[in-house]
Amino acid sequence: MNTSLDSKLNPTPETNTGTKEDCALIFELSQPGRVAYSLPECDVPVSEEEAADWLPAEFKRTDAAALPEVYEVDVIRHYTGLSRRNFGVDNGFYPLGSCTMKYNPKINEDVARYAGFAKIHPYQPVSSVQGALEMMHTLQSDLAALTGMDAVTLQPAAGAHGEWTGLMMIRSYHEERGEHQRTKVIVPDSSHGTNPASATVAGFETVTIPSNAKGMVDLDTLRAAVGSDTAALMLTNPSTLGLFEEQIVEIARIVHEAGGLLYYDGANSNAIMGITRPGDMGFDVVHLNLHKTMSTPHGGGGPGAGPVGVKSILVPYLPAPMVEKLEDGSYGFADPSQASIGRVKAYYGNFGILVRAYAYIRTYGPEGLRRVSECAVLNANYMMARLKDYYEVPFAGPCKHEFVMSGSGLKKYGVRTLDVAKRLLDFGYHPPTIYFPLNVEECIMIEPTETESKETLDGFIDTMIRIAKEAEEDPELLLNAPYTTPVTRLDETNAARKPVLNCACS
Ligand SMILES: *Cc1c(COP(=O)(O)O)cnc(C)c1O
Repeated sequence: MNTSLDSKLNPTPETNTGTKEDCALIFELSQPGRVAYSLPECDVPVSEEEAADWLPAEFKRTDAAALPEVYEVDVIRHYTGLSRRNFGVDNGFYPLGSCTMKYNPKINEDVARYAGFAKIHPYQPVSSVQGALEMMHTLQSDLAALTGMDAVTLQPAAGAHGEWTGLMMIRSYHEERGEHQRTKVIVPDSSHGTNPASATVAGFETVTIPSNAKGMVDLDTLRAAVGSDTAALMLTNPSTLGLFEEQIVEIARIVHEAGGLLYYDGANSNAIMGITRPGDMGFDVVHLNLHKTMSTPHGGGGPGAGPVGVKSILVPYLPAPMVEKLEDGSYGFADPSQASIGRVKAYYGNFGILVRAYAYIRTYGPEGLRRVSECAVLNANYMMARLKDYYEVPFAGPCKHEFVMSGSGLKKYGVRTLDVAKRLLDFGYHPPTIYFPLNVEECIMIEPTETESKETLDGFIDTMIRIAKEAEEDPELLLNAPYTTPVTRLDETNAARKPVLNCACS
């Protein structure tokens, strides 16, 4: 710990994930001749294979690799130090709106590792994996019931992959009907970035429509945007502003009357499970992120699962193969339909993630899933109510599983949302999502995990209030934060645009 820090910074050593002092690169610790092992000389003859010189000379290096030369204990400390700098939901509160880490019961990790699940192979005869197929078949029906859809594919490997899969089915649907002119996908300005990206990759043109003053889809704007070129509207409900589109039934009618379909982004379903269903709202396609809502930790790039549910009109286009219950009562794969968009993932999806979701649904049951949603919504509303006097809340009324605030009220002190987020690091919190959605100035988007205790929520709220006061009384403090992390303000633009990923060792 840097003991020269002013005591008012009040850093929290127990949650701190690293100090400036352990920042030396392992290359900087290197001293010629140091080794991290000690083994006796080999006292048996070297085998012929080992002694043979298999590698052609042109592939051999002429000078030694520039690896660090350190003692074993240095290597151990290096990797242990790096691992402790990881922040996750197992270290602390993680209110990352739109993508919050939901509760991931540890027992489901165990279940996914049962040999009967973990040690099977996709090339095994179908007769020898009946249990796994039954699990997948049941999960397909459970997810269909939960979303109000007629059929579900488990193949897609992520949320964005599910979006693309759904959009490709929508495209096939329009093409089959000879409606090749339906090239546009409408998204609201609060939509998750993957929505327009997936639409583009699926060959559509995106039309962004502005939200109204209540943060909702504006019906007149929507009416003006739809037409004979509309392929679909992509929406998440509640939206990324944490608001439920009250006019969703009317929205669905407008899009359907124009001949378009409705796509539901169900990446974060924590507000609606057991309460309402995309299918009942009028949506034709929905994807879920099992690696957000259903027990798999997300982040770091995978693995995930983004199952896609469809209404009956899209069933012929589902990816193949689909797990089916056959006439003799066993499980197997149905012959793909002529119109299927084909395979979207090797084998049958990320199987281990499916096991976790299955265990999650079975453990909670319908009542439990509803309770998950009720707690998610309650936690978010509690936090919003306690914070609204310190940060501006742009949209009135109760929120769903998340809410947005604005740091624009701090601008008069020369402080921005980014500074608040950086200061939170000093207190051992993962900051909320910031500057998203794009339609709220200085946006701070908070989604508390549904299982957090009141004490944890209060701890975070008190810290946010304290930071708002610091902004007023001592803005410099925020502008230079964080103080307790291994590095402070990074040049994020340069890091993204011109990453330097190797060490310039001498
Ligand atoms: C996370 C998220 C996605 C994308 O999911 P990935 O698995 O990261 O591709 C899409 N929409 C919303 C609203 C999300 O929060």
